[in-house]
Amino acid sequence: MKDYPYWWDTVPQSTVHSSHSIVGGHQSPVDIAIVGAGYTGLAAARHLARVGATVAVLERERIGFGASSRNGGQVLTGFKVGPAALVARYGERRARELFDRSRDSIERVEALIAQESIDCEYERVGHLQAAWKRSHFEAFRDERELLSRVFHHRVELVSRADQRTELGSGVYHGLLVDEGSRALNPARYAAGLAGAATRAGARVVTGVGVTRLAKSGSRWIVSTTDGDVEARDVLLATNGYTNGAAPALQRRLVPIGSYIIATEPLSAAEAASVLPRGRVVFDSKHYLYYFRLTSDRRLLFGGRAEFSRPGPETTRRAAAILRSGLVKIFPELAAKAIEYAWGGNVAFTRDQMPRAGRLDGMYFAGGYCGHGIAMATYLGELVARRMAGEPIEHPLFDDLFAPIPFYNGRPWFLPLVGAYYRFRDLVD
Ligand SMILES: Cc1cc2nc3c(=O)[nH]c(=O)nc-3n(C[C@H](O)[C@H](O)[C@H](O)COP(=O)(O)OP(=O)(O)OC[C@H]3O[C@@H](n4cnc5c(N)ncnc54)[C@H](O)[C@@H]3O)c2cc1C
Repeated sequence: MKDYPYWWDTVPQSTVHSSHSIVGGHQSPVDIAIVGAGYTGLAAARHLARVGATVAVLERERIGFGASSRNGGQVLTGFKVGPAALVARYGERRARELFDRSRDSIERVEALIAQESIDCEYERVGHLQAAWKRSHFEAFRDERELLSRVFHHRVELVSRADQRTELGSGVYHGLLVDEGSRALNPARYAAGLAGAATRAGARVVTGVGVTRLAKSGSRWIVSTTDGDVEARDVLLATNGYTNGAAPALQRRLVPIGSYIIATEPLSAAEAASVLPRGRVVFDSKHYLYYFRLTSDRRLLFGGRAEFSRPGPETTRRAAAILRSGLVKIFPELAAKAIEYAWGGNVAFTRDQMPRAGRLDGMYFAGGYCGHGIAMATYLGELVARRMAGEPIEHPLFDDLFAPIPFYNGRPWFLPLVGAYYRFRDLVD
């Protein structure tokens, strides 16, 4: 079993390691230094370079190393916070505005892929939300009504009796079908964005970790493992991988592990029986499962099997938990070999809504709570437009983003949170 993302085997090495190596003190000052080469940093870099800024993207590992090449590739409508909670929290008008922005973010991804000819297996497949309990399917009815009335967004329900037209499992209690969601190959998308940013004139440097950010007069000194870079402005695009180089952002984002396994390729008949319409799927538990097929017909099966951050031991444990989940849902796949298992950090905010803005004089965007493919692209670009001087107002801009009380970047409370959500899955 390979212990790295399946997606990494689908991108040429030449597209994830930059040929620029050195910052090393020889780098002339730049307008903008961006820390992190995931969707946020790369979408921002592309925009800023296109409007004439000199841009350096500094990435500790490889392009898309963080969540951007580890995710499930589900480009979903909405937020982690569901429609009913959005309305309860913000009222109908603001909730609708937020939901509309999530749809804008998908349109933006689609437009970028077309404009930059990014070859990333992008498909308008729609998503299924699968009801883990009968009561969850009843809640889907209310959600459908709310989505239509408040958000003008149409979804369909499929009862348990009919669900095999969409999903080859008898475990779930019916489905909600949302045609607005999409699928893509996340690592190819990240590599494609990096190519677009580079073509626009940004310098994307891999293998260079930022260790310290300090103000010197009106400029930033960005200290790296390869020397210092001077910049007018800094964008923190480090999300769930934020480290001590950005302590203020670290105190606002909680990294939570999410894990995925990938089977060996299924036969065409097996794949058609598992997901007849090739949609992407997630279920209604707190400890949710999410799954989909790849272009070579593997079943990718993910979940929050462990709350702790990925490492060799947690990934092995998570893979065993996910495998037994997969077999419960698709018993006919019990004999299939699991060829890949990996984990990644999902960045959560306290209220489970993403944010962009300014913190201690630096720009940031992040906290997508597992709904980040489209939102990171979109907020990365928006924050870049603001950095370029556009007077942008946006409901997700928050320059007063508060730190999480009693939290310094080490999420000591995750075992408690994990136990709480396990309990909720039992009783809800
Ligand atoms: C397992 C998993 C499944 C997911 N599934 C989905 C899904 O199906 N759909 C969806 O919409 N979202 C999903 N997400 C979330 C989505 O992947 C993220 O929201 C998105 O990729 C965030 O992009 P980003 O650019 O902000 O951060 P990242 O892609 O995490 O990039 C941050 C980068 O910063 C770099 N970095 C950090 N610190 C430094 C430093 N000091 N110096 C230099 N570089 C640094 C890291 O190496 C990293 O590459 C999933 C996430 C995970 C982990």
